[in-house]
Amino acid sequence: MKNYHTHTARCHHAMGTDEDYVQIAIQEGYTTLGFSDHACWHYPSGFHPHIRMLETEFDGYQKSILDLKQKYQDQIEILCGLEAEYFPKSMNWLKNFCKEKQLDYLIFGNHYYQSDETGIYYGNCPQNHIEDYFTSTLEGLQTGMYSCLAHPELILLNPHLKWNDQLEEGFHSICKLAKELEIPLEYNVLGFRKARQMGFVAYPHPRFWQIASQYKNKAIIGMDAHQPFGLEKELFLEAYESLLKYDVEIVDALKKVDFSMM
Ligand SMILES: [Zn+2]
Ligand SMILES: [Zn+2]
Repeated sequence: MKNYHTHTARCHHAMGTDEDYVQIAIQEGYTTLGFSDHACWHYPSGFHPHIRMLETEFDGYQKSILDLKQKYQDQIEILCGLEAEYFPKSMNWLKNFCKEKQLDYLIFGNHYYQSDETGIYYGNCPQNHIEDYFTSTLEGLQTGMYSCLAHPELILLNPHLKWNDQLEEGFHSICKLAKELEIPLEYNVLGFRKARQMGFVAYPHPRFWQIASQYKNKAIIGMDAHQPFGLEKELFLEAYESLLKYDVEIVDALKKVDFSMM
C-alpha cells in the first residue's frame, strides 16, 4: 500500500502532527507515505492565504518530513511533495521552486480558477466557470509538472450542477488527455468516505469512472488524508475494491518528475 496524498496541519484544515501520520501509516501497513500538503505560492501582492502553508513555512515542512524520513527509514519510504493548483501566471515561479527545493513530486489539485487570491473555488463552481475548469485542467496536465490528477471530478462538489453534455464532454477531454500523457487519475478516498457517510456522491463519481474505463486510464488510490486516521487501511481497501469495478489500469506508485530537467 502506497499513498501520495497526505496533508499536514500547516494548511489549517488538517489535524495531527507529521509524525502521527507516519506512525499510523506504518501501523496500517503502508510501504510509502508521500506528504503533499497544499502548496505555498508566491503572491506579489502580499496576499495571505488561509488554506495552505505560507511560502515562509515551506522549509519547516520539508525539514520535518526529511527528519521523519531519516528516523523511520527502516520502516517506511517517506516522500516530500505538494498538492498544487495550476495558476498560469505563477507556473515559472513554481517550476523554479520545485527545482530549488528538490521536491519529490507534485499532485495536481485544480482547486481555484487562476489563483485563490482572485479566482473562484471550483468546489463551488458556478455554471459560467465550468468550461474554465476543464480548460485549466487540460492546460495544467500539459505542463508535465504533475505526477497525477487529484479528484478529477472536483466541480461535482456543487450539488446544483446536473450532469449534462458539457460535463460529459469535459470529462471525456480530461480522460483522453490523461491517457495520452499517461498521467494517472486519482480515485479520491476522502470523497469516497464522505459519499458513504453522507450519501452525497460528488467524487469519485461512477459516470466519470465509466468514461475513464472507455479510455482505460491509469488510476491511483489517493487517501487525501487530513487527519492521521484518514489513512485507515480498511478505507484504502474498500476504495480499491470499488475501483476494481472499472476497466482502468490501477497503478500503486507515482512517477517522479525531474524538475531539474524542466
Ligand atoms: Zn485537493
Ligand atoms: Zn488534498
